[in-house]
Amino acid sequence: MALAYDGAIQRLIDAFNRLPGIGPKGAQRIAFHLLSAPDEEANELVEAIEEVKAKVRFCDICGNVCESSPCPVCADPRRDHTIICVVEEPKDVMSVERTREYRGLYHVLGGAINPMANVGPEDLSIAKLLDRLKTNEVQEVILALDPNIEGEATTTYLSRLLTPVGIKVTRLASGLPVGSDLEYADEITLGRALAGRREA
Ligand SMILES: [Zn+2]
Repeated sequence: MALAYDGAIQRLIDAFNRLPGIGPKGAQRIAFHLLSAPDEEANELVEAIEEVKAKVRFCDICGNVCESSPCPVCADPRRDHTIICVVEEPKDVMSVERTREYRGLYHVLGGAINPMANVGPEDLSIAKLLDRLKTNEVQEVILALDPNIEGEATTTYLSRLLTPVGIKVTRLASGLPVGSDLEYADEITLGRALAGRREA
């Protein structure tokens, strides 16, 4: 029995298999789905990938994904520029936005401290965060990291770093499902955790 398909189809399966959350079986299903799908459907996927790689970038201020920098949140004068909510990934910005409980700004760290994966504070966008705090406009930093070991370690690190700066540092109230990702919390639970935030 052959262990791999011939040529192009195997390359496509391998490419999907490298993506997060798909796995070998899912990769095979998607590849064969595309093989029998109408050309338009396959072309739409190709164009969407090309467009995202060509157009989407990271905001120079907050690190969120956007098509123009500064991003619409940083550039919006109606947002509260005295509060910054610190999150791990761009997808977490979307999770917090969905709660409709928050009107401040964001700062995307690009991950969390994780010694097992060799991710230290120097690998995260922390220097940029400190720079943003120098303007004296910011009065509160909310640490909204994932409720897991890495998020907890990063919260502790940042609160020790930021408290001497003299800015109010808060963290989400407990109640989020422990050991998971911010994105898995439903809007109501995350909204409550935000509203009930406490000093870190
Ligand atoms: Zn921004």
